[in-house]
Amino acid sequence: MKTEDHATLSEKFNRDEARVDWHDKTLWFIREKRDKAAWQTPDWEQLRDEASQIKNNVLGNLHAYLLLFEKNAQQNGITVHWASTAEEHNRIVHSIIQKHGSKKVVKSKSMLTEECHLNEYLAKQGIDVIDTDLGERIVQLADEPPSHIVLPCIHWKKEEIGELFHQHLGTPKGNADPQFLTAAAREHLREKFMTGRVAITGVNFAVAETGEIVVCTNEGNADLGVQLADVHIACMGIEKIIPQRKHLGIFLRLLTRSATGQPITTYSSHFRSPRPGQSMHIVLVDNGRSERLKSDDFRNALKCIRCGACMNTCPVYRRSGGHSYHYAIAGPIGSILAPGLDMKKHADLPFASTLCGSCSNVCPVKIDIHDQLYKWRQVIVQKGYVKKTKGIGVKAMADILSNSFFYRTAGSVTRWILKYIPGLINNSFNPWYKQREMPRVPERSFKEWYHHRKKNG
Ligand code: SF4
Repeated sequence: MKTEDHATLSEKFNRDEARVDWHDKTLWFIREKRDKAAWQTPDWEQLRDEASQIKNNVLGNLHAYLLLFEKNAQQNGITVHWASTAEEHNRIVHSIIQKHGSKKVVKSKSMLTEECHLNEYLAKQGIDVIDTDLGERIVQLADEPPSHIVLPCIHWKKEEIGELFHQHLGTPKGNADPQFLTAAAREHLREKFMTGRVAITGVNFAVAETGEIVVCTNEGNADLGVQLADVHIACMGIEKIIPQRKHLGIFLRLLTRSATGQPITTYSSHFRSPRPGQSMHIVLVDNGRSERLKSDDFRNALKCIRCGACMNTCPVYRRSGGHSYHYAIAGPIGSILAPGLDMKKHADLPFASTLCGSCSNVCPVKIDIHDQLYKWRQVIVQKGYVKKTKGIGVKAMADILSNSFFYRTAGSVTRWILKYIPGLINNSFNPWYKQREMPRVPERSFKEWYHHRKKNG
Protein backbone atom coordinates (compact mmCIF):
# COMPACT_ATOMS: atom_id res chain seq x y z
CA MET A 1 0.00 0.00 0.00
CA LYS A 2 1.40 3.37 -1.00
CA THR A 3 1.52 6.03 1.66
CA GLU A 4 3.37 9.14 0.46
CA ASP A 5 5.00 10.08 -2.82
CA HIS A 6 8.65 10.86 -3.53
CA ALA A 7 8.24 14.63 -3.24
CA THR A 8 6.60 14.40 0.19
CA LEU A 9 9.11 11.88 1.53
CA SER A 10 12.04 13.93 0.16
CA GLU A 11 10.69 16.99 1.87
CA LYS A 12 10.75 15.11 5.18
CA PHE A 13 14.37 14.02 4.56
CA ASN A 14 15.30 17.61 3.70
CA ARG A 15 14.11 18.92 7.05
CA ASP A 16 17.46 17.80 8.49
CA GLU A 17 19.72 19.97 6.37
CA ALA A 18 22.96 18.82 8.00
CA ARG A 19 22.09 15.18 7.28
CA VAL A 20 21.28 15.98 3.67
CA ASP A 21 24.65 17.71 3.17
CA TRP A 22 26.56 14.89 4.79
CA HIS A 23 24.58 12.20 2.87
CA ASP A 24 25.26 14.06 -0.38
CA LYS A 25 28.99 14.42 0.30
CA THR A 26 29.46 10.81 1.46
CA LEU A 27 27.86 9.40 -1.66
CA TRP A 28 29.80 11.78 -3.89
CA PHE A 29 33.00 10.62 -2.18
CA ILE A 30 32.10 7.06 -3.16
CA ARG A 31 31.34 8.20 -6.70
CA GLU A 32 34.84 9.75 -6.85
CA LYS A 33 36.38 6.52 -5.60
CA ARG A 34 34.54 4.74 -8.40
CA ASP A 35 35.96 7.20 -10.94
CA LYS A 36 39.52 6.65 -9.73
CA ALA A 37 39.09 2.87 -9.89
CA ALA A 38 37.67 3.13 -13.41
CA TRP A 39 40.52 5.40 -14.60
CA GLN A 40 43.07 2.97 -13.19
CA THR A 41 41.58 0.18 -15.31
CA PRO A 42 42.80 0.76 -18.88
CA ASP A 43 40.22 -1.54 -20.50
CA TRP A 44 37.32 -0.12 -18.47
CA GLU A 45 35.16 0.89 -21.42
CA GLN A 46 35.85 -2.40 -23.14
CA LEU A 47 34.77 -4.24 -20.00
CA ARG A 48 31.54 -2.24 -19.93
CA ASP A 49 30.88 -3.05 -23.57
CA GLU A 50 31.54 -6.73 -23.07
CA ALA A 51 29.37 -6.91 -19.95
CA SER A 52 26.56 -5.18 -21.79
CA GLN A 53 26.85 -7.57 -24.74
CA ILE A 54 26.91 -10.63 -22.50
CA LYS A 55 23.76 -9.42 -20.77
CA ASN A 56 22.16 -8.76 -24.16
CA ASN A 57 22.86 -12.35 -25.08
CA VAL A 58 21.46 -13.56 -21.75
CA LEU A 59 18.25 -11.56 -22.14
CA GLY A 60 17.81 -12.83 -25.71
CA ASN A 61 18.27 -16.47 -24.66
CA LEU A 62 17.14 -16.39 -21.06
CA HIS A 63 14.87 -19.43 -21.35
CA ALA A 64 17.70 -21.65 -22.65
CA TYR A 65 20.24 -20.40 -20.10
CA LEU A 66 17.84 -20.90 -17.20
CA LEU A 67 17.10 -24.48 -18.23
CA LEU A 68 20.83 -25.18 -18.63
CA PHE A 69 21.50 -23.69 -15.22
CA GLU A 70 18.71 -25.76 -13.67
CA LYS A 71 20.01 -28.99 -15.23
CA ASN A 72 23.60 -28.39 -14.08
CA ALA A 73 22.57 -27.25 -10.60
CA GLN A 74 20.43 -30.38 -10.18
CA GLN A 75 23.34 -32.54 -11.31
CA ASN A 76 25.41 -30.83 -8.60
CA GLY A 77 22.87 -31.97 -5.99
CA ILE A 78 21.01 -28.65 -5.62
CA THR A 79 17.20 -28.52 -5.48
CA VAL A 80 15.90 -25.85 -7.86
CA HIS A 81 12.55 -24.12 -7.33
CA TRP A 82 10.70 -21.71 -9.62
CA ALA A 83 8.58 -18.84 -8.31
CA SER A 84 6.51 -16.68 -10.62
CA THR A 85 5.64 -14.11 -7.95
CA ALA A 86 7.03 -12.67 -4.72
CA GLU A 87 4.30 -14.47 -2.75
CA GLU A 88 5.22 -17.81 -4.30
CA HIS A 89 8.91 -17.17 -3.51
CA ASN A 90 8.05 -16.48 0.13
CA ARG A 91 5.88 -19.60 0.38
CA ILE A 92 8.64 -21.78 -1.11
CA VAL A 93 11.27 -20.41 1.29
CA HIS A 94 8.93 -20.89 4.24
CA SER A 95 8.10 -24.46 3.23
CA ILE A 96 11.82 -25.35 3.07
CA ILE A 97 12.41 -23.86 6.54
CA GLN A 98 9.34 -25.64 7.89
CA LYS A 99 10.47 -28.95 6.46
CA HIS A 100 13.70 -28.66 8.41
CA GLY A 101 11.85 -27.72 11.59
CA SER A 102 13.76 -24.48 12.10
CA LYS A 103 12.49 -21.33 13.74
CA LYS A 104 15.61 -19.23 13.17
CA VAL A 105 17.25 -18.11 9.93
CA VAL A 106 20.46 -16.16 9.27
CA LYS A 107 20.29 -14.12 6.08
CA SER A 108 22.98 -12.30 4.14
CA LYS A 109 22.19 -9.30 1.96
CA SER A 110 19.68 -10.00 -0.80
CA MET A 111 17.77 -7.24 -2.55
CA LEU A 112 15.46 -9.87 -4.02
CA THR A 113 14.25 -10.84 -0.55
CA GLU A 114 13.69 -7.13 0.15
CA GLU A 115 11.67 -6.87 -3.08
CA CYS A 116 9.59 -9.88 -1.98
CA HIS A 117 9.25 -8.65 1.66
CA LEU A 118 10.48 -12.04 2.84
CA ASN A 119 11.42 -10.92 6.36
CA GLU A 120 7.92 -9.64 7.09
CA TYR A 121 6.36 -12.79 5.65
CA LEU A 122 8.56 -15.13 7.68
CA ALA A 123 8.04 -13.07 10.84
CA LYS A 124 4.28 -13.60 10.45
CA GLN A 125 4.92 -17.35 10.28
CA GLY A 126 6.85 -17.19 13.55
CA ILE A 127 10.33 -17.42 12.00
CA ASP A 128 13.09 -15.24 13.44
CA VAL A 129 15.15 -13.79 10.58
CA ILE A 130 18.54 -12.28 11.45
CA ASP A 131 20.14 -10.09 8.82
CA THR A 132 23.88 -10.67 9.11
CA ASP A 133 25.26 -7.91 6.89
CA LEU A 134 26.24 -5.18 9.36
CA GLY A 135 24.38 -2.39 7.55
CA GLU A 136 21.31 -4.56 7.12
CA ARG A 137 21.39 -5.58 10.77
CA ILE A 138 21.48 -1.91 11.76
CA VAL A 139 18.39 -1.04 9.72
CA GLN A 140 16.70 -4.24 10.90
CA LEU A 141 17.25 -3.26 14.54
CA ALA A 142 15.87 0.19 13.67
CA ASP A 143 12.84 -1.46 12.02
CA GLU A 144 13.53 0.23 8.70
CA PRO A 145 14.14 -0.99 5.16
CA PRO A 146 17.60 -0.43 3.61
CA SER A 147 18.00 2.97 1.96
CA HIS A 148 20.70 1.90 -0.51
CA ILE A 149 21.35 -1.43 -2.22
CA VAL A 150 25.05 -1.56 -1.31
CA LEU A 151 25.15 0.71 1.76
CA PRO A 152 21.87 -0.10 3.54
CA CYS A 153 22.35 2.32 6.45
CA ILE A 154 24.16 5.15 4.65
CA HIS A 155 21.59 7.59 6.08
CA TRP A 156 22.63 6.76 9.68
CA LYS A 157 25.30 8.64 11.64
CA LYS A 158 27.71 6.72 13.86
CA GLU A 159 26.32 8.44 16.97
CA GLU A 160 22.84 7.19 16.09
CA ILE A 161 24.19 3.68 15.56
CA GLY A 162 25.91 3.90 18.96
CA GLU A 163 22.56 4.75 20.56
CA LEU A 164 20.78 1.97 18.65
CA PHE A 165 23.37 -0.59 19.80
CA HIS A 166 23.10 0.71 23.34
CA GLN A 167 19.34 0.05 23.25
CA HIS A 168 19.45 -3.34 21.49
CA LEU A 169 22.86 -4.82 22.22
CA GLY A 170 23.60 -3.20 25.58
CA THR A 171 26.77 -1.33 24.51
CA PRO A 172 27.83 1.58 26.79
CA LYS A 173 25.79 4.72 26.20
CA GLY A 174 27.61 7.39 24.22
CA ASN A 175 30.18 5.04 22.66
CA ALA A 176 30.10 5.70 18.92
CA ASP A 177 33.54 4.43 18.01
CA PRO A 178 33.10 2.55 14.70
CA GLN A 179 35.65 -0.14 15.59
CA PHE A 180 34.04 -0.75 18.96
CA LEU A 181 30.56 -0.90 17.44
CA THR A 182 31.71 -3.28 14.72
CA ALA A 183 33.27 -5.57 17.32
CA ALA A 184 30.03 -5.46 19.34
CA ALA A 185 28.02 -6.38 16.24
CA ARG A 186 30.44 -9.20 15.45
CA GLU A 187 30.02 -10.67 18.92
CA HIS A 188 26.24 -10.31 18.73
CA LEU A 189 26.07 -11.95 15.29
CA ARG A 190 28.51 -14.74 16.12
CA GLU A 191 25.95 -16.34 18.45
CA LYS A 192 23.29 -16.06 15.72
CA PHE A 193 25.57 -17.77 13.20
CA MET A 194 26.31 -20.60 15.63
CA THR A 195 22.64 -21.33 16.25
CA GLY A 196 21.11 -20.62 12.81
CA ARG A 197 20.35 -23.96 11.16
CA VAL A 198 19.10 -22.35 7.95
CA ALA A 199 21.07 -19.75 5.95
CA ILE A 200 19.56 -17.61 3.21
CA THR A 201 21.76 -15.78 0.73
CA GLY A 202 21.23 -13.71 -2.36
CA VAL A 203 22.98 -14.44 -5.64
CA ASN A 204 25.19 -12.03 -7.56
CA PHE A 205 25.84 -14.31 -10.51
CA ALA A 206 24.53 -17.75 -11.52
CA VAL A 207 26.70 -19.55 -14.05
CA ALA A 208 24.64 -21.54 -16.56
CA GLU A 209 27.46 -23.81 -17.78
CA THR A 210 28.39 -25.03 -14.29
CA GLY A 211 25.20 -24.64 -12.24
CA GLU A 212 27.09 -22.69 -9.56
CA ILE A 213 26.26 -19.40 -7.90
CA VAL A 214 28.57 -16.57 -6.79
CA VAL A 215 27.84 -14.40 -3.75
CA CYS A 216 29.90 -11.25 -3.18
CA THR A 217 30.28 -9.75 0.30
CA ASN A 218 32.82 -7.62 2.13
CA GLU A 219 32.11 -9.15 5.51
CA GLY A 220 32.19 -12.88 4.79
CA ASN A 221 28.80 -13.18 6.47
CA ALA A 222 27.26 -15.22 3.65
CA ASP A 223 30.11 -17.77 3.91
CA LEU A 224 29.91 -18.00 7.69
CA GLY A 225 26.13 -18.44 7.61
CA VAL A 226 26.20 -21.09 4.91
CA GLN A 227 29.15 -23.06 6.31
CA LEU A 228 27.53 -23.39 9.74
CA ALA A 229 23.97 -24.15 8.58
CA ASP A 230 22.33 -27.45 7.65
CA VAL A 231 20.32 -25.81 4.89
CA HIS A 232 21.36 -23.16 2.36
CA ILE A 233 18.60 -21.34 0.47
CA ALA A 234 19.80 -19.01 -2.31
CA CYS A 235 17.21 -16.61 -3.72
CA MET A 236 17.78 -15.05 -7.13
CA GLY A 237 15.99 -13.10 -9.81
CA ILE A 238 16.04 -14.95 -13.13
CA GLU A 239 18.17 -12.19 -14.71
CA LYS A 240 21.21 -13.07 -12.59
CA ILE A 241 22.31 -15.73 -15.08
CA ILE A 242 25.60 -15.42 -16.93
CA PRO A 243 26.46 -18.00 -19.58
CA GLN A 244 29.99 -19.09 -18.65
CA ARG A 245 32.37 -19.05 -15.73
CA LYS A 246 34.95 -17.09 -17.73
CA HIS A 247 32.47 -14.18 -17.87
CA LEU A 248 32.88 -13.73 -14.12
CA GLY A 249 36.26 -12.14 -14.85
CA ILE A 250 34.41 -9.26 -16.52
CA PHE A 251 31.57 -8.82 -14.04
CA LEU A 252 33.63 -9.18 -10.87
CA ARG A 253 36.05 -6.51 -12.10
CA LEU A 254 33.20 -4.14 -12.84
CA LEU A 255 30.96 -4.78 -9.84
CA THR A 256 32.97 -3.56 -6.88
CA ARG A 257 34.88 -0.85 -8.71
CA SER A 258 31.49 0.60 -9.65
CA ALA A 259 30.01 0.05 -6.20
CA THR A 260 32.69 1.31 -3.82
CA GLY A 261 35.87 1.84 -5.84
CA GLN A 262 37.47 -1.34 -4.44
CA PRO A 263 39.29 -3.54 -6.98
CA ILE A 264 37.24 -6.56 -5.89
CA THR A 265 34.88 -7.62 -3.10
CA THR A 266 36.65 -9.09 -0.11
CA TYR A 267 34.78 -12.38 -0.56
CA SER A 268 33.57 -13.64 -3.93
CA SER A 269 32.30 -17.05 -2.87
CA HIS A 270 31.34 -19.83 -5.26
CA PHE A 271 28.68 -22.30 -4.15
CA ARG A 272 28.44 -25.23 -6.50
CA SER A 273 27.00 -28.07 -4.41
CA PRO A 274 25.91 -28.70 -0.84
CA ARG A 275 28.63 -29.94 1.47
CA PRO A 276 28.09 -33.51 2.84
CA GLY A 277 25.06 -33.59 5.14
CA GLN A 278 23.82 -30.17 4.00
CA SER A 279 20.94 -29.45 1.63
CA MET A 280 21.04 -26.60 -0.85
CA HIS A 281 18.11 -24.93 -2.59
CA ILE A 282 17.99 -22.24 -5.24
CA VAL A 283 14.77 -20.30 -5.77
CA LEU A 284 14.52 -18.70 -9.22
CA VAL A 285 12.15 -15.77 -9.11
CA ASP A 286 10.33 -14.06 -11.98
CA ASN A 287 8.10 -11.50 -10.24
CA GLY A 288 7.43 -9.35 -13.32
CA ARG A 289 10.77 -9.91 -15.05
CA SER A 290 9.28 -11.90 -17.98
CA GLU A 291 6.87 -9.05 -18.62
CA ARG A 292 9.77 -6.58 -18.70
CA LEU A 293 11.61 -8.86 -21.11
CA LYS A 294 8.80 -8.40 -23.64
CA SER A 295 9.29 -4.66 -23.76
CA ASP A 296 11.95 -3.31 -26.13
CA ASP A 297 11.95 0.00 -24.27
CA PHE A 298 12.45 -1.37 -20.75
CA ARG A 299 14.07 -4.82 -21.00
CA ASN A 300 17.61 -3.43 -20.63
CA ALA A 301 16.86 -2.67 -16.98
CA LEU A 302 17.22 -6.42 -16.43
CA LYS A 303 20.96 -6.13 -17.10
CA CYS A 304 21.44 -4.49 -13.70
CA ILE A 305 24.11 -6.07 -11.46
CA ARG A 306 23.02 -3.99 -8.43
CA CYS A 307 26.27 -2.05 -7.95
CA GLY A 308 24.54 1.12 -6.72
CA ALA A 309 26.72 3.47 -8.82
CA CYS A 310 23.68 5.16 -10.36
CA MET A 311 22.47 6.07 -6.86
CA ASN A 312 25.83 7.44 -5.71
CA THR A 313 26.01 9.77 -8.68
CA CYS A 314 22.36 10.84 -8.83
CA PRO A 315 21.89 14.45 -7.56
CA VAL A 316 18.28 13.67 -6.66
CA TYR A 317 19.04 10.47 -4.75
CA ARG A 318 21.93 12.07 -2.88
CA ARG A 319 19.71 14.86 -1.61
CA SER A 320 16.44 13.01 -1.13
CA GLY A 321 17.58 9.77 0.55
CA GLY A 322 16.74 6.19 -0.34
CA HIS A 323 13.51 5.95 1.64
CA SER A 324 11.91 8.69 -0.44
CA TYR A 325 11.63 6.18 -3.31
CA HIS A 326 9.15 3.99 -1.34
CA TYR A 327 10.43 0.87 -3.14
CA ALA A 328 12.96 -1.79 -2.14
CA ILE A 329 15.42 -0.54 -4.75
CA ALA A 330 15.88 3.22 -4.62
CA GLY A 331 17.49 5.70 -7.00
CA PRO A 332 17.50 5.78 -10.78
CA ILE A 333 17.44 1.99 -11.30
CA GLY A 334 14.61 1.60 -8.78
CA SER A 335 12.67 4.30 -10.61
CA ILE A 336 12.68 2.27 -13.82
CA LEU A 337 12.11 -1.11 -12.16
CA ALA A 338 9.28 -0.15 -9.82
CA PRO A 339 6.74 1.11 -12.43
CA GLY A 340 7.11 -2.24 -14.22
CA LEU A 341 5.77 -3.96 -11.13
CA ASP A 342 3.01 -1.50 -10.27
CA MET A 343 2.77 1.54 -12.54
CA LYS A 344 0.04 3.33 -10.64
CA LYS A 345 1.73 2.98 -7.24
CA HIS A 346 5.14 4.06 -8.53
CA ALA A 347 4.02 6.64 -11.12
CA ASP A 348 5.90 9.42 -9.31
CA LEU A 349 9.34 7.76 -9.42
CA PRO A 350 10.40 8.36 -13.06
CA PHE A 351 9.77 12.05 -12.38
CA ALA A 352 12.25 12.02 -9.47
CA SER A 353 15.14 12.76 -11.81
CA THR A 354 16.83 15.67 -13.52
CA LEU A 355 17.46 13.45 -16.59
CA CYS A 356 21.07 14.61 -16.46
CA GLY A 357 22.23 11.20 -17.66
CA SER A 358 24.93 10.75 -15.03
CA CYS A 359 23.37 7.39 -14.06
CA SER A 360 23.73 6.02 -17.60
CA ASN A 361 27.32 7.30 -17.76
CA VAL A 362 28.46 5.33 -14.72
CA CYS A 363 26.40 2.17 -15.25
CA PRO A 364 28.87 -0.72 -15.70
CA VAL A 365 26.48 -2.65 -17.96
CA LYS A 366 25.48 0.42 -19.97
CA ILE A 367 21.79 0.52 -19.15
CA ASP A 368 20.13 3.53 -20.82
CA ILE A 369 18.69 4.55 -17.45
CA HIS A 370 17.84 8.19 -18.15
CA ASP A 371 16.26 7.31 -21.51
CA GLN A 372 14.08 4.77 -19.74
CA LEU A 373 13.10 7.32 -17.11
CA TYR A 374 11.99 9.62 -19.91
CA LYS A 375 10.08 6.83 -21.66
CA TRP A 376 8.36 5.81 -18.43
CA ARG A 377 7.15 9.41 -18.03
CA GLN A 378 5.49 9.24 -21.42
CA VAL A 379 3.85 5.89 -20.68
CA ILE A 380 2.66 7.10 -17.28
CA VAL A 381 1.18 10.31 -18.71
CA GLN A 382 -0.57 8.34 -21.48
CA LYS A 383 -2.06 5.99 -18.88
CA GLY A 384 -3.34 8.97 -16.92
CA TYR A 385 -1.36 8.24 -13.75
CA VAL A 386 -0.05 11.77 -13.21
CA LYS A 387 -1.88 14.47 -11.26
CA LYS A 388 -4.14 16.58 -13.48
CA THR A 389 -2.38 19.75 -12.29
CA LYS A 390 0.95 18.40 -13.52
CA GLY A 391 -0.51 17.64 -16.96
CA ILE A 392 -2.03 21.14 -17.19
CA GLY A 393 1.23 22.78 -16.04
CA VAL A 394 3.37 20.86 -18.54
CA LYS A 395 0.93 21.64 -21.38
CA ALA A 396 0.97 25.36 -20.48
CA MET A 397 4.76 25.34 -20.35
CA ALA A 398 4.97 23.60 -23.74
CA ASP A 399 2.67 26.25 -25.26
CA ILE A 400 4.75 29.08 -23.83
CA LEU A 401 8.10 27.61 -24.85
CA SER A 402 6.96 26.86 -28.41
CA ASN A 403 5.65 30.38 -29.14
CA SER A 404 8.12 33.28 -29.18
CA PHE A 405 5.46 35.93 -28.39
CA PHE A 406 4.15 33.98 -25.38
CA TYR A 407 7.73 33.26 -24.29
CA ARG A 408 8.79 36.92 -24.41
CA THR A 409 5.62 38.09 -22.68
CA ALA A 410 5.86 35.45 -19.94
CA GLY A 411 9.51 36.47 -19.36
CA SER A 412 8.70 40.18 -18.98
CA VAL A 413 5.66 39.57 -16.77
CA THR A 414 7.59 37.16 -14.50
CA ARG A 415 10.54 39.57 -14.18
CA TRP A 416 8.15 42.38 -13.27
CA ILE A 417 6.35 40.26 -10.66
CA LEU A 418 9.60 39.00 -9.12
CA LYS A 419 10.84 42.58 -8.87
CA TYR A 420 7.76 44.29 -7.46
CA ILE A 421 5.57 41.58 -5.86
CA PRO A 422 7.92 38.57 -5.37
CA GLY A 423 5.60 37.06 -2.76
CA LEU A 424 3.22 36.15 -5.57
CA ILE A 425 5.73 33.53 -6.75
CA ASN A 426 8.09 33.02 -3.82
CA ASN A 427 5.65 31.61 -1.32
CA SER A 428 5.15 28.36 0.53
CA PHE A 429 2.63 27.14 -2.09
CA ASN A 430 5.43 27.05 -4.67
CA PRO A 431 7.30 23.74 -4.19
CA TRP A 432 10.26 25.02 -6.21
CA TYR A 433 10.77 27.86 -3.72
CA LYS A 434 10.66 25.75 -0.56
CA GLN A 435 14.24 24.45 -0.67
CA ARG A 436 15.86 27.13 -2.80
CA GLU A 437 17.17 30.63 -2.68
CA MET A 438 15.73 32.30 -5.76
CA PRO A 439 18.21 34.15 -7.99
CA ARG A 440 18.15 37.94 -8.39
CA VAL A 441 15.99 38.81 -11.39
CA PRO A 442 17.79 40.43 -14.33
CA GLU A 443 16.55 43.80 -15.53
CA ARG A 444 15.93 42.54 -19.05
CA SER A 445 15.97 39.38 -21.12
CA PHE A 446 19.11 38.10 -22.80
CA LYS A 447 17.72 39.16 -26.19
CA GLU A 448 17.09 42.72 -24.98
CA TRP A 449 20.56 42.87 -23.43
CA TYR A 450 22.11 41.56 -26.66
CA HIS A 451 20.35 44.15 -28.87
CA HIS A 452 21.23 46.88 -26.40
CA ARG A 453 24.93 45.93 -26.52
CA LYS A 454 24.90 45.67 -30.28
CA LYS A 455 23.34 49.08 -30.66
CA ASN A 456 25.51 50.83 -28.09
CA GLY A 457 28.74 49.01 -28.85
S1 SF4 B 1 21.52 0.31 -13.10
FE1 SF4 B 1 23.70 0.11 -13.56
S2 SF4 B 1 24.64 1.60 -12.14
FE2 SF4 B 1 22.57 1.26 -11.36
S3 SF4 B 1 22.77 -0.39 -9.86
FE3 SF4 B 1 22.30 -1.36 -11.83
S4 SF4 B 1 24.27 -1.89 -12.74
FE4 SF4 B 1 24.68 -0.41 -11.11
